[in-house]
Amino acid sequence: MEKRDYSKIVRELKDKGYTLSMARIAILRYVMKENAHYTAEEIYKNLKEEYPTLSIATVYNTLKLLSKEGYLQQIMIDPNKVIYDSTLGIHPHFYCKVCGKIEDINSDIKIQLNKEINGNRVEEAHIYVYGVCKDCLKKQKSKRESLSLN
Ligand SMILES: [Zn+2]
Ligand SMILES: [Zn+2]
Repeated sequence: MEKRDYSKIVRELKDKGYTLSMARIAILRYVMKENAHYTAEEIYKNLKEEYPTLSIATVYNTLKLLSKEGYLQQIMIDPNKVIYDSTLGIHPHFYCKVCGKIEDINSDIKIQLNKEINGNRVEEAHIYVYGVCKDCLKKQKSKRESLSLN
């Protein structure tokens, strides 16, 4: 996955006429990390200490703005929350049903946008894979092992 240059995005947004406060730049920088999948609440919690004046509304507004301008995509893998992803383009996501962790996975599934499938034009596609992540599998395994020892 490509690394995103947040200072370039800051420049582009300023060129478009947006005013970017320190808090907004901090959110941008945070969310553009590699392989990052965050909810607004997670970003807020993580930045609150460094930016005590930060409000959750600012986080929401900034994420909305970045999505609108095409720097983030929204992942709806978990019906209870919206997750923001700085990796653009169609890529499959894995969701752990035990701990709720989300990660990008490699897969052979290939869907191209703006191509026709059976005469229908594809404009958007999401590939969500659900299961138990490797960390949770390991935990389950060691739990089983310790149980069978007793
Ligand atoms: Zn897990
Ligand atoms: Zn992703």
